[in-house]
Amino acid sequence: MSVFQDLVIAYRVLAQHGVIDAYGHVSVRCPKDPQRFWMARSLAPELVTEADLMEFDMDSEPVDARGRSPVHERFIHGQIYRARPEVNAVVHNHSPAVIPFCCTDTPLRPIFHMAAFIGLGVPNWEIRDAQKGTDMLVRDNALGASLARTLGAHPAALMRGHGAVVVGENLPRAVGRSVYLEQNARLQFQAHVLAGADGEITFMDDAEVAANVSWQAYDRFWTLCRMKVLQELEETSAGRATH
Ligand SMILES: [Zn+2]
Repeated sequence: MSVFQDLVIAYRVLAQHGVIDAYGHVSVRCPKDPQRFWMARSLAPELVTEADLMEFDMDSEPVDARGRSPVHERFIHGQIYRARPEVNAVVHNHSPAVIPFCCTDTPLRPIFHMAAFIGLGVPNWEIRDAQKGTDMLVRDNALGASLARTLGAHPAALMRGHGAVVVGENLPRAVGRSVYLEQNARLQFQAHVLAGADGEITFMDDAEVAANVSWQAYDRFWTLCRMKVLQELEETSAGRATH
C-alpha cells in the first residue's frame, strides 16, 4: 500500500462512479514535501497506472517530466495546495449532474446526510470575472489562483459551464465528497421535479450539517471501492500473464 497506489485507485473510483470520464483528474500532496504534489499525465483516468504519475511544484510545473505531457488544468491543483495548507487531495471533475447548478440561480444544498459538507457552502466560480473569452479551461496560474480564491475555505466550488473542484484532508475524503456531490445534485433535481415550482424541499439545517461533517470521512466507501479496484487490477495482470 502506498500513496501512489491510492492515487491510481482514486482515478478509477471517480471514473467508475461517473464523476470523471475521459477527462478530469485527482491529485495528492507529496507526503515528503508539502511544496510538491502528484497527479497523472494527460491520460484517460481508467488507464492510469503508477508509471503515469508525475510530480509538480507549487507553480504546477513538472519536476521530472521525462517526455510525459501534463494535463492543461494542473494549475487548479497547485494554486489550491498553495492556498490551503490543510488540503492534501484535490479532485477536478466535469460531474454531469452538478453542471445545471453552476449555470442557473438554483444553489446546491445538502439534501441527504452523505453530502452534508455541501452545507458548508459551495461557491460558484465565474471564469469571466478573471478573464473573458476563454475556452473555459484553467490554463495558467492566474486562473488557478482566481478559482482558489473563490473556493476559499470551502470543501468544494462549482465552475460555471465546466464542472467542480472538490478538496479534502486526504484522498478518501476528496473522492467521497466528489461522488456524493454528484449524487446530491441528482437527488436535488429529482426533489425539485417532485415538489414542483412552488413546492417545499426540506434540506439539512446548519446544526445537522455541523453534526455530520465532523466525522464523515467516507472510510467505509473508500475501503470497499479500493478493494474492488485492487481485485480488478489483479485480474487484469493475471489475464496478461496467461496470454
Ligand atoms: Zn476541466
